[in-house]
Amino acid sequence: MLQDLLTSLVYGLGLMGIAGISYGIIHRRTRNGTMKSVLIGLVFGVIAILAMVNPINLSEGIILDARAVIVGLASAFGGLPAAIISGLLVGLYRIHLGGAGAIPGAFGILISAGLGFAWHRFILSKSPVTLRQLLGLGALLSLHSIAILMLPMSVAIELFSTVVPVLTVSCIIGALVMGLIIDRERRYIRTEKFWRETAGTDSLTGLPNRRSFMDRLQLEPSPKMPGQYSAVMIIDIDHFKKVNDTYGHDAGDMALRRVADALQRTSGDHDFVCRLGGEEFAVFSENTSQDDIQNRAEAYRAAIERQLIRYGKKTIPLTISIGVASWIDALEMDVSEMLRNADTALYAAKTKGRNRVVIGGALPSSYTASA
Ligand code: GH3
Ligand code: MG
Ligand code: MG
Repeated sequence: MLQDLLTSLVYGLGLMGIAGISYGIIHRRTRNGTMKSVLIGLVFGVIAILAMVNPINLSEGIILDARAVIVGLASAFGGLPAAIISGLLVGLYRIHLGGAGAIPGAFGILISAGLGFAWHRFILSKSPVTLRQLLGLGALLSLHSIAILMLPMSVAIELFSTVVPVLTVSCIIGALVMGLIIDRERRYIRTEKFWRETAGTDSLTGLPNRRSFMDRLQLEPSPKMPGQYSAVMIIDIDHFKKVNDTYGHDAGDMALRRVADALQRTSGDHDFVCRLGGEEFAVFSENTSQDDIQNRAEAYRAAIERQLIRYGKKTIPLTISIGVASWIDALEMDVSEMLRNADTALYAAKTKGRNRVVIGGALPSSYTASA
């Protein structure tokens, strides 16, 4: 008897652990919010059905399983689609099992899904959940036992004095255990996201950094029309050392931020802009044409030349030189060769007098913008 009880208890806790781990996997692997919720509904629903297969027999006629807690937690942490899917899945399975308790049992599961969703809607926030919130969730979920009132009155009274107290306590303990496991996943997911974003972002300008840029270049090229070009532009601020020497390092930092903002504004949605480091930036363009590449590079150059960077009462004049490399077939592009070509073109722009665009690689070798 004790051994059976322990086995069922470990089984139930194991399922809750699996549900928690599944929650983490779904959140890490899926981007779309609705899809996350649907998957949580499906996975938690199946886990709740597994919980019904091996219930805990507390004593004659008192049977306990984790289904209400698992459906409730799916709804509480997964939202509306998770509530509907897990509630229906487990409710239909309960009807399929049959018996006098089928309809009240299914109804109880739907109540649990609804109460879990109410908690999701009104209590759950982005911050870690508190013990008090989880205790409240457990108490709320235990209310699903009012479905027992659908049974004949004598049976209901009997159950209220025997099963309901045990059910209430187990709902609270279950919500606490499973809620803590899921919340731990939520915290880890948030921390991972923070570090991923920090690792890929330049702290001075907020632009993607060199690491993000290299990752972006290595990505599968997006589907493109035949004859479309991809291009990399390397952008270097002209005589930037002089800005630091003349106005000070703080002014230099401010100027870098202003240049980053102007490049970002000019890029629209089609270009990927990053700070490579120091006073060097880079742009990656996809699905474009030769003319377009020239026009975009020229637009960046003109945007910086036009921009008035004020520092106190002074205006810091800035220009940039741009070296461009382009390919006609992104599938065959060699990233390091592309960057070398862009660098060579940038060097040419510098030696020709700066504040200009030089296009190397697949395009005419020396296109020079107005200087
Ligand atoms: P060129 O036109 O040939 O590119 O000349 P330049 O002076 O821009 O090039 P150089 O490589 O000689 O100098 C780059 C300067 O950029 C030197 C460095 O102090 C400055 N710099 C690099 N990173 C930062 C930064 O984060 N903040 C500030 N304020 N200055 C930086
Ligand atoms: Mg430089
Ligand atoms: Mg420079």
